[in-house]
Amino acid sequence: MKRSLKRLSILSLCVTLMLFIPFAGAAAAPTLTQSIGIGLFGASGLNTYLQAGTGTVPWTLLAAIDLVETGTAANPDAARLEAIKSKLSGSSARERISGYSDNPIFISMVENRMYSLSRIDLIMLDYSRVFPLASSAAYYYTDDYGAARDFGGERTHEGIDIICDKGTPVRSVCNGTVTKKGWLTLGGWRIGVEDENGVYYYYAHLSQYGAFEVGDTVRAGDILGYSGSTGYGPEGTDTVMIPHLHFGMYENDVAFNPYVFLRQWEVTVQPPAIVYNSRDEQLRKADTEGLRECGTPDRGVEA
Ligand SMILES: [Zn+2]
Repeated sequence: MKRSLKRLSILSLCVTLMLFIPFAGAAAAPTLTQSIGIGLFGASGLNTYLQAGTGTVPWTLLAAIDLVETGTAANPDAARLEAIKSKLSGSSARERISGYSDNPIFISMVENRMYSLSRIDLIMLDYSRVFPLASSAAYYYTDDYGAARDFGGERTHEGIDIICDKGTPVRSVCNGTVTKKGWLTLGGWRIGVEDENGVYYYYAHLSQYGAFEVGDTVRAGDILGYSGSTGYGPEGTDTVMIPHLHFGMYENDVAFNPYVFLRQWEVTVQPPAIVYNSRDEQLRKADTEGLRECGTPDRGVEA
């Protein structure tokens, strides 16, 4: 009876997976061009998985199981991840997955998803990467990804604002190729770099550019430009907002939250010299001066 119930539950899981899980087509072997799928995580999902991961149960395994079971990673529940964790045992990922479920389709889907998610670790833990501002610069930032913005219509903030003095050198966080450069209504003078994973890095509101043009190769640490407050209007519009760097990350034109990446690249270099006491302090100052926060790429132009 128990066995038949188990068979039934496996069969129903199989059918459920095939009918409802959007990753059923991902059973084929992943390729280097396969999307990492970072955009699936929403504003804080990735951080929740990272925090739930341990030395023996990597976050990629938890996220992969959660993704395959629920079809979403936008709003992971910490208690649910703990429950998954408690059912995982074994000395390898394969053992843990096959101990969790004996459904070969499920195992294959989790393994494939884990493989693609592991590329996020490659980006995050790449020690050749740098924070976009030098550690000697004065800057301040918080996780303001997803915050409400209203210039150009109701929308959410698709990046992180790093408040800093105008003219602070802005560095490429990674090796890559310059793929975009020029004016955007929302982004002002912006430059964009694509890395070898196909992830796009967006630097906006610059006051000046560095020496690089579209098509040029850049190395992590190269100066792409200098921070400023350009944007929110026709070409040349300046000082509508407080000086800062807007930093965005996109995969397949889908934004994802760069905050945990920035925190990682920041600590792999040196602790920053923070001069501002708080972001609120900066924003209060901005309010009294009639300035506002920045926007996101004008997708119509950017795309
Ligand atoms: Zn911004």
